[in-house]
Amino acid sequence: MKMDEPPRSQGSQGGEEEGEKSFVVPRPFSLVAELTYQCPLRCPYCSNPLDYGSSEYKRELGTEDWLRVFSQARQMGVLQLGLSGGEPLLRKDLELLVEKATDLGLYTTLVTAGTILTLERAKRLREAGLDHVQISIQDSRAAESDRIAGIKSFDKKIAAAKLVKELGFALTLNFVLHRHNLDRIEEILELAEVLEADRVELANTQYYGWALQNRNALIPTREQLVKAEQAVMNAQKRRKMPMGILYVIPDYYAEYPKPCMSGWGQRTLVVAPNGNALPCQAAGVIPNLELFNIKEYSLEWIWFESPTFNRFRGTDWMLEPCRSCERREVDWGGCRCQAFLLSQDASATDPVCHLSPNHHQIVTVREGVGEEVVSFAYRQFNS
Ligand code: SF4
Ligand code: SF4
Repeated sequence: MKMDEPPRSQGSQGGEEEGEKSFVVPRPFSLVAELTYQCPLRCPYCSNPLDYGSSEYKRELGTEDWLRVFSQARQMGVLQLGLSGGEPLLRKDLELLVEKATDLGLYTTLVTAGTILTLERAKRLREAGLDHVQISIQDSRAAESDRIAGIKSFDKKIAAAKLVKELGFALTLNFVLHRHNLDRIEEILELAEVLEADRVELANTQYYGWALQNRNALIPTREQLVKAEQAVMNAQKRRKMPMGILYVIPDYYAEYPKPCMSGWGQRTLVVAPNGNALPCQAAGVIPNLELFNIKEYSLEWIWFESPTFNRFRGTDWMLEPCRSCERREVDWGGCRCQAFLLSQDASATDPVCHLSPNHHQIVTVREGVGEEVVSFAYRQFNS
């Protein structure tokens, strides 16, 4: 249904008649606005698409498009807005976007690498109403952080974190964990305490996109993970961070998958820089998944009615062993993108699950960890 047509009633899984609903579609809680895929950094685990520099993504949404999306999202009940990328600070209209989102009553978070945050910009964003800043740091040590980022950037990130605190924003520090920094988890947590972070996100690398290309260079050993998890538990007991430490478990060493995005199309909407709306940042890798653009369709229709958001909602789409599994509404069968990338079938059980017929692929990778020394394939666009 195009934007000039009236929105339909909400609440059913696509194509079902009233009274035959097997899954009541919840309202979205958060919107991730990927404002641009441009970024000065080149992280080898970047979650942006491999073809992020293609003409497809160079046509970025304009200010009015984003403001319409924010307004539609708020009308649907969205409370949290993540302004993400790429590097969202590259958008010259960021202050205006924040101001309007704040006026709508959205809680706004800027997710940034921090390298181009100036005092003037930070003040303007504060005046516009920005609530929360998340800064990604690659390691506790400058040389190592710069090596992963692919450019010299650590000192600027530290300066940005200090600025964020000085201006009174809530500060989260994001660290992506892998073989090359897990042994410094205590130093990483100490750095977060020194910088007075309100919250820390320690996310073990998820192997999609660039990270999948770099999997052999990034995947840690079980011994590294055991030590790191103990260090995280110790730090959690010290309770230095008011909003806590979020530790995202490593898929490849887990028995069961995570409930990816809290379930497909159940909590979060992602809008890519070109306006395509997706249930998660990586969903574009799934073939034959028709994507709908906010320039042509209302966000409400995309969320409630589009085949994209209904494709893997609930449990009706599941195959065995998920279909009859008692955990099917706990983890929702895991990640659809990972299922496709590892088994070439987006409807399959996530191979991370030990019950998946494709789980041997995970075991093979796990057992081979550390055998090869591999250099990074840094994020770059090869046209
Ligand atoms: S992961 Fe690294 S390269 Fe990718 S958007 Fe974030 S900072 Fe930029
Ligand atoms: S079989 Fe499916 S539902 Fe059951 S634990 Fe594994 S991924 Fe989850």
